[in-house]
Amino acid sequence: TKGAAMVTAVASRVQAQRKQIDEVLALFRLTREQLVGVQGRMRAELEYGLKKKTQALATVKMLPTYVYGMPDGTEKGKFLALDLGGTNFRVPPGGEYRREFCLFDHIVQCIADFLDYMGLKRSAAAFGFTFSFPCRQMSIDKGTLIGWTKGFKATDCEGEDVVDMLREAIKRRNEFDLDIVAVVNDTVGTMMTCGYEDPNCEIGLIAGTGSNMCYMEEMRNIELVDGDEGKMCINTEWGGFGDNGCIDDIRTQYDKEVDEGSLNPGKQRYEKMTSGMYLGEIVRQILIDLTKQGLLFRGQISERLRTRGIFETKFLSQIESDRLALLQVRRILQQLGLDSTCEDSIVVKEVCGAVSRRAAQLCGAGLAAIVEKRREDQGLEHLRITVGVDGTLYKLHPHFSRVLQETVKELAPQCDVTFMLSEDGSGKGAALITAVAKRFQQSRKE
Ligand code: BGC
Ligand code: MG
Repeated sequence: TKGAAMVTAVASRVQAQRKQIDEVLALFRLTREQLVGVQGRMRAELEYGLKKKTQALATVKMLPTYVYGMPDGTEKGKFLALDLGGTNFRVPPGGEYRREFCLFDHIVQCIADFLDYMGLKRSAAAFGFTFSFPCRQMSIDKGTLIGWTKGFKATDCEGEDVVDMLREAIKRRNEFDLDIVAVVNDTVGTMMTCGYEDPNCEIGLIAGTGSNMCYMEEMRNIELVDGDEGKMCINTEWGGFGDNGCIDDIRTQYDKEVDEGSLNPGKQRYEKMTSGMYLGEIVRQILIDLTKQGLLFRGQISERLRTRGIFETKFLSQIESDRLALLQVRRILQQLGLDSTCEDSIVVKEVCGAVSRRAAQLCGAGLAAIVEKRREDQGLEHLRITVGVDGTLYKLHPHFSRVLQETVKELAPQCDVTFMLSEDGSGKGAALITAVAKRFQQSRKE
């Protein structure tokens, strides 16, 4: 009976631990009502951002891009494009550009190397600059940086025109000329590239290191830009959604910890719940808490687990892959320097699943808001629309894209949304936009 009592004691302890773990996971499970709530609040914020009166305070900035339409196929010539700000061109983790090493000098160095390599240094080619940060534009070739996101930081850039800074750095180098024709957000480039093949493509979505969306809006709804005819692309910068506290009811203590430990606390709250740069950090915060509660890693918080940024998107994607046996999950954790038992690896996988699923659902709720708005604005019973998509989270993660699509279908049943993957959309799109802008420039001169 002593043995039996012990077995019972162990069983009830295991049960109690399971309950504690489930309580944490439950914080990440959103009900349909909660998602509908997020959709509604996103819709309201989109409208605020478009109106003169409310725009200054809007958390979804709704930035006009001065891109009026799609390429028509007559664009010809050599166009260069450079994409700054995604997974490929990054400041080293924790790195910060200061005056001694100006970010724009570094960019110009990269361009110089590329022009050399292509034998284009003397051609003064038309150039499109994909700059994947929020910029307030007054024309297609001017953009003032509002603020850095995604862990980027370079001093003395905020409030400055990024095209001017690029031009000055080129002048400083005094080695080649560039005809900078357009500055383009990566979402806009992505929409453009897909729009070239599918005229129904009127939305661009990035679900990668950062999170953002752009779409074609009726000019009459854009109060900040004169004119009522036709459409213009709006860069929503929806990553800032929630910065006024409007989604605090669904943010967890872990989201708050991630926010507080970031380079831009209080900002980009929606982005911090939905994009690759932060999902791993949320997972890490949960694992730390579960370990503190003695529910993981034998209650030992290792130095590794204390290290910021260890769970990159690619690890989350691997851990959540259905084809992976638990032993392999353990091996990945081992690679990350985390010594796990079999039970630990089950819990880690569940945590990753809960965090990425919520991210995909939140992103889906945002997208549902925009397609419904487009449907209503056009007075349609039914809307068919294509979304051009790019980003490592969307492309690499085994479940993110499916959950995102299911959520849009569920929350916007009157919209028939097609998702189109773009290959290097932002760069190609910038070249296309440059081509269109160049054509306009020339026709104005004639
Ligand atoms: C930036 C956006 C960009 C997105 C995706 C966000 O952090 O603010 O401008 O489109 O990341 O790269
Ligand atoms: Mg990119």
